[in-house]
Amino acid sequence: MKKVLQAVLLVVSVSVTTLAQEPKFRVLAFYSEKVEHDHVDFAHDAIRFYTAAGERDHFTFTSTTNWEDMNATKLADYDLVVWLNDFPHSPAQRAVFEQYMEHGGGWLGFHVAGYNDRATKWPWYLSFLGGGVFYGNNWPPLPATLTVDDPSHPVVQHVPQTFLSPANEWYNWKPSPRENKDVKVLLTLAPSNYPIGMKDVIKGGDLPVTWTNTRYRMVYTNIGHGDRIFTTDVQNRMLEDMLLWVGPKRSTETK
Ligand code: ZN
Repeated sequence: MKKVLQAVLLVVSVSVTTLAQEPKFRVLAFYSEKVEHDHVDFAHDAIRFYTAAGERDHFTFTSTTNWEDMNATKLADYDLVVWLNDFPHSPAQRAVFEQYMEHGGGWLGFHVAGYNDRATKWPWYLSFLGGGVFYGNNWPPLPATLTVDDPSHPVVQHVPQTFLSPANEWYNWKPSPRENKDVKVLLTLAPSNYPIGMKDVIKGGDLPVTWTNTRYRMVYTNIGHGDRIFTTDVQNRMLEDMLLWVGPKRSTETK
């Protein structure tokens, strides 16, 4: 009996060691250095934040400024692609990303990664994002109160029903992604913020900030402008939970 117990303990301890060494998932984050200065600042802050989070939460976080890394061979090694401040501009890179997402890949996009207008010319991506075309923004960047749409969702389960999000440039979308039946909105700009802005003012309307298109393993958040984003514990927790939710591969039933 004692030998059996020893054998069981050995198996358990080997399993625990293996779990500790093997990352839960692998992240490849793309960003650009030659974009709007505030967007570069955000990317640098995000890389620091998520690299530290990876040590806490057991995932690897690799970043690159080389968008040619958006190729099938490279992406095969990663569970999640993050776009910190840009999106692919070449047809080849876009095609690789579409294939990756259509076959169970994960994506987390911040702020300007979701920007699109008439010049973007990428219909698949517009549909992937939920159909909202960029319509306007506030300027200068300002803090805003956000409200949680579904407190039970893992991305927002640790934040209060309303919280103050640090200074950001907030985007408006037309139509609102909420009108898409496949979109689940997680955070919304509270109407109490209106009017928001000085040079450019958003006067009202439905303004989803963070959402998922439930047909994919993805989250888009409009948060991600400037060097104030990672300055509150409440929002930091949400930004960490967001990556932890979208990071691991999972069956479609748990989306
Ligand atoms: Zn911006």
